[in-house]
Amino acid sequence: MKNLYMLSRRHFLKTLGTVAVLCSLDSSAVIRLAQAIEEASKKPPVIWLSGLGCGGCTDSFLDSSGEKATRLILDSISLRYFDSLYGFAEENSGREELFIEFTKDNDYLLVVEGAFPDEEVAADFKIGERSLTEILRELSAGASLVIASGACSSFGGIPAAGAVPAKGVLSFVDREKVINLPTCPVHNEHLLAVISNWLLKNENFELDEYNRPKLFFSVGALHNNCPRKKFYETGRFLRDWNEVEEKDYCLYMLGCRGIEASADCATRKWNEGSNWCVECGAGCQACSEPEFFVREEGFFEGRGSKATAAAAYAAAAVAGAAAYHKLKNHLNKKRIAEKKGDPSD
Ligand code: SF4
Repeated sequence: MKNLYMLSRRHFLKTLGTVAVLCSLDSSAVIRLAQAIEEASKKPPVIWLSGLGCGGCTDSFLDSSGEKATRLILDSISLRYFDSLYGFAEENSGREELFIEFTKDNDYLLVVEGAFPDEEVAADFKIGERSLTEILRELSAGASLVIASGACSSFGGIPAAGAVPAKGVLSFVDREKVINLPTCPVHNEHLLAVISNWLLKNENFELDEYNRPKLFFSVGALHNNCPRKKFYETGRFLRDWNEVEEKDYCLYMLGCRGIEASADCATRKWNEGSNWCVECGAGCQACSEPEFFVREEGFFEGRGSKATAAAAYAAAAVAGAAAYHKLKNHLNKKRIAEKKGDPSD
């Protein structure tokens, strides 16, 4: 048997023997356990590496995918390394050796969560003797596909906005191998779809200029499908969170960046299609875009003094709507005046 997780066969069977005693199983169970684990190791191998992040993408994936994630992880793949589980293991408990072992395989999937420190500070972020960034580079070299799961691993996200110069996976890995799935957190359906596609050995998704699947990300997708767009177009904006009467109005003036967002949230929604940010009253933060979190104003703040292209567009749209209404009023007045026999108006 190939060394599994860097254990020798003798050591491996001894560990299983201890497990069998703890569970009051007879000695034949040790062999059956060994066979079951060997069988599991024949499934397509997946490594799930975490960089700098909050772990929210894992939570989102496991919580909102429910049984689909369970079936995927337990039945369809051999999850060889998963940071969220390894976090409980002792410091230096063989992780480094594991990574070296993985790189001998050449057909595994690497799912990456979180951003990675730039070279200048990479040495401060280590697993064992090697930096996180070095481990990312090495693991991606042997992977057939690298999925950057979430905004941080795609473009740097929140870690990139802080004091540590952090970047997305594309800064360290061959572009041809990477599929970016930004949004904060990752959308579970996006991730499930890309992993399933890899399992089926289908052709890769068609990607846009930021390596995002066009199937899930397209320019204008969010704003154009937003149920509040009719208010945007007629210049009706919520300007005060306490205005209950206007709560369904467009959230642009209170910081919604939906115009810049390309994710399919407005049609796919979140949590099994139950809701999404804008529908439940929170402006979109364009977490699908490279500029997410690199901005001057905070979340939910009104529009700052810096005019953006979006602001100009909004102003033009409002001005357009206002001009239209002015013209309509003028024509109405004219028609009424004509009826009264006073064409001077
Ligand atoms: Fe919807 Fe935001 Fe666009 Fe307004 S600006 S229509 S709230 S996405």
